[in-house]
Amino acid sequence: MSQAGSISVSNIQKIYDPEGAAVHALENCSCEIPSGKFVAMVGPSGCGKSTLLNMIAGFDKPTSGEIKLDDQLLVSANTQTPPNSDRVVVFQNGALFPWKTVLENIAYGPIVQKTRGRGQAEEEARELLNKAGNLERIAGSFPGQISSGMQRRVEILRALINKPKVLLLDEPFRAMDTVSKSKMHQHLLDIHDKFRPSILLITHDLVEAILLADVVLVMTTRPGTIKVNINVELPRPRSREMILSDEFTELQKQAIAAVHEEARKAFERGEKELA
Ligand code: ADP
Ligand code: MG
Repeated sequence: MSQAGSISVSNIQKIYDPEGAAVHALENCSCEIPSGKFVAMVGPSGCGKSTLLNMIAGFDKPTSGEIKLDDQLLVSANTQTPPNSDRVVVFQNGALFPWKTVLENIAYGPIVQKTRGRGQAEEEARELLNKAGNLERIAGSFPGQISSGMQRRVEILRALINKPKVLLLDEPFRAMDTVSKSKMHQHLLDIHDKFRPSILLITHDLVEAILLADVVLVMTTRPGTIKVNINVELPRPRSREMILSDEFTELQKQAIAAVHEEARKAFERGEKELA
């Protein structure tokens, strides 16, 4: 019996528009996100990463194969468990309500879902802000008054108030500058350390993938399947200095080799962009 929050993806095939253009997005795709582990996924553009994440989230169904959460069927060709607080997606430009304060934004979900009263929800929101590194000082600010990095942190806390078992992140730091990005890495490492959700992070950035994750999954070009499964055994807590270690360089070489081989195939087929 697996622990709470483990995702198991078996033999997923996804064909968009099977009667017409028939885009084979995923084929024979299997992987695991073990309970409390941090998994990063990289692969050429259009190889089906978002397709897979969206199915785990409950936004779509596969053509065949199944996805389980803790041994319970989540999705298959005939099953689609709607999105719920077990598994939460943090979107790239997740919209905070500009007219609500940071505290109100974080407390919003449980209040509308009536799982907690306003007082209780706001108390928990305050605790989260505090636990996430003394962010209580921004509790009364409006989203427009804080930096975009800070907004992203608030979005993650807004997801965490529902105590998700699985956190799903689809290229959340793509548009960020290097300094903001490295602050976000530290924040995400802290979140993982303190709250221990299982995490699936899709990224184009191999250094980010290795620095954060326990396992890096490299996908093939479309139809996407897992090409290589790289175990990252760097100790935790992780720190940026680890990027300079021999062990890190070795992992990076492995990942680059796998990604470039796939990017080259995609390029030769006329698809653009790598990883
Ligand atoms: P990635 O996130 O790895 O860049 P996606 O999962 O977004 O890739 O897309 C995988 C493939 O499926 C792409 O070729 C994309 O064009 C196609 N695709 C994605 N969504 C749809 C859709 N709703 N209808 C048809 N094709 C789609
Ligand atoms: Mg995508």
